[in-house]
Amino acid sequence: MTETTSGKLLDPLRLFFALWPDDATRTTLNHTGKWLHKHWDGRRMRADTLHLTLAFLGRTPVAQLDALTASVDAIEAQALELTLDQPGHWQHNRVGWLGPSQPPPQLGELVSALNAAIQQSGIAFDARPHVPHVTLLRNAAGGGLPACQPVAWSVRDFVLVSSRIEEDGANYDVIRRWSLT
Ligand code: ATP
Ligand code: MG
Repeated sequence: MTETTSGKLLDPLRLFFALWPDDATRTTLNHTGKWLHKHWDGRRMRADTLHLTLAFLGRTPVAQLDALTASVDAIEAQALELTLDQPGHWQHNRVGWLGPSQPPPQLGELVSALNAAIQQSGIAFDARPHVPHVTLLRNAAGGGLPACQPVAWSVRDFVLVSSRIEEDGANYDVIRRWSLT
């Protein structure tokens, strides 16, 4: 169960599935965030919050959590190698990010399997086209960049995260982890 810093239990939870970097990958991604910040300014994401969202559920009653995790338990998805080599900038929200220019097919398969599992568990869910990316900057200027050092990420698991929107921004709690085969 997720608690706020004031100790209050949250229901509904604000949930999303994500790839959560191992410490070494997190450090490398954070390094790229510093590099991108030099070029695009804005606000860097805290290293401990860096992630790649797979599916966003939004507000989900705690009562639906068991059905959701049971559906996800049945997923058989493969481990994958990501090469994050493509910086990007969205004008509409001024997010600066890093993503794979060539996402491996296993990533799309995992996202599809999660979308199906969410639907199967009876959670109201509006799947949007998935753009794999790690947000590194908010309020970023964008513009031209020199060549970017790619970040290699061996993905061996995925997680369910509860997001608490608090005064200092979003804080995330990993509440479940599933291994990839
Ligand atoms: P904040 O909203 O305070 O700026 P945040 O966006 O990191 O912080 P959340 O809004 O809880 O925190 O989102 C958690 C993750 O889900 C983020 O990676 C966010 O980009 C992604 N996300 C949020 N809303 C959607 C959505 N409607 N569709 C797809 N992904 C989403
Ligand atoms: Mg948000």
